[in-house]
Order: sequence, then structure tokens, then C-alpha cells
Amino acid sequence: MTAAIDVRGLEKSYGDVQALDGLSLSVEEGEFFGLLGPNGAGKTTFINVLVGLVRASGGEASVFGYDVVEDYREVRDRIGLAPQEYNVDRFFPIQEVLEHKAGYHGFDRATARERAREALEMVDIADKADARFHQLSGGMKRRFMLARALVSGPELLILDEPTAGVDVQLRHDLWEIIEKMNAAGTTILLTTHYIEEAERLCDRVAILDQGRKVEVATPDELTQRGTDTLDIGLGD
Ligand code: ATP
Repeated sequence: MTAAIDVRGLEKSYGDVQALDGLSLSVEEGEFFGLLGPNGAGKTTFINVLVGLVRASGGEASVFGYDVVEDYREVRDRIGLAPQEYNVDRFFPIQEVLEHKAGYHGFDRATARERAREALEMVDIADKADARFHQLSGGMKRRFMLARALVSGPELLILDEPTAGVDVQLRHDLWEIIEKMNAAGTTILLTTHYIEEAERLCDRVAILDQGRKVEVATPDELTQRGTDTLDIGLGD
């Protein structure tokens, strides 16, 4: 079976900072995979390489067997990304922002409208369809970013700290939505600083530190093993 994500010896440096230092990692199709690690470990850089926002300086990366650089278009249509930082158009209602996104991924107008509506319903903000992004509350913005990642029907959903700083209720709501996506067959890559989030959601997690993979384990294995690996900036 083709891996959903396969990276070998990935390198990326910013000046003196080695953000990715020979990272190799494989995520299976349908897996719920977590990326843990302290601030600056390279998690976001890794994601940015996968989605084509950052060009690695060495190594190879593929998504469902497609090279992230050579086969960029194939990769783009298979990934839905909810980034950590977001900048959404101020002028269009959020429903239209989603329609544009679906259109960009090749859906015709009528289908794009339908998909946008469904995505807003999935995250429970269909009643805000006419609002602009900046008019939403912080929690609704999180929901919207998930809808934006979902609208193209991705095979791989990448969520960069989707629940950082949100209240308990919203965190549980977001977990439920993401779990539903995974149960429907979508592969999930999620970064988090919350160990209990990884325990609840992930089949396996990789711990990164200084651009390197420290280990890959199930959340159970990590907690059983105690605090050594969890000491690197993790915990709630
Ligand atoms: P966090 O948990 O804080 O989000 P992270 O694991 O996602 O951290 P990255 O954002 O990938 O880590 O950063 C890895 C390293 O690369 C850090 O030292 C960071 O300062 C550096 N870095 C990332 N992006 C850039 C950039 N555009 N220019 C310079 N340095 C960068």
C-alpha cells in the first residue's frame, strides 16, 4: 500500500537554524498521526514542505506516492490544511471564501456552493455563512479554518495545532469533527502540544526535536514509558 506521507532524509535550514535535520517519517493511509515536539522542533516546517510552501534543501517527500515538488498539483488536490496562522480575505462572506477554495480545486460553481454549505454545516457555523472572517469569534474562526481545510474533500487533512488556546467545549467539538473525518477514511496529520489530545486521537505519534525524529510510538507506549520523552516541552 502506498504511504499517505513518506519523507526520507528531509533537510531545511534557515541561515544557521537547521529546522529539519535528516527527517524520515512514514504515515499510513487512513492513519491518525500526531506530531509532537517543543517549540521550534520543525513541525510547521515539515508541514510547509508537504504542502509546497517551503522547498526542502535535501531529501525526498511524497504524498500518496506523488512527489511534493514534481507532482505539486496532484498533492495540492489531496491535502486540506488548517494552518496555525491564518489570513483570510476580509471582503467576501465566509461561504464565498469556501466556494472560491472549492473552485480552485476544480469543482464547478454549483458543486462548489454545495460543498461550501456542507463544510460550514460540518463545523456547525452554517448560520454564519454571510459573515466575514474577521467578524467571527476566535472559536468560530477555528471552526471556519477546519471547514476551509475540508471543503475540497481532501484525502489527507493536516491540522497544525488546531485546538491551541481554545476552551474545553470547543476542543471537544473539534475533536469530534476530526474523528468523524478519520472514521470516514481521511488520513490525519495533527500537531499538538497537548499530550491528552494525542492520547485521545492518534494511532501513532512522532516526537520531533531540533528537526530530528526522536521516536515514533503509540500514545499508550509513550505514557507507559514515563516522562523522559514527554519532558521535551510537552504537556498540557
Ligand atoms: P511551534 O511548536 O512553536 O509551532 P515548530 O515545531 O512548528 O514550532 P517550526 O516553526 O517549524 O517549529 O520552526 C523550526 C525552526 O525554524 C525554528 O527555530 C524557527 O525559528 C525556524 N524558522 C521557521 N520558519 C522560519 C523562517 N521563515 N525564517 C527563519 N527561521 C525560521
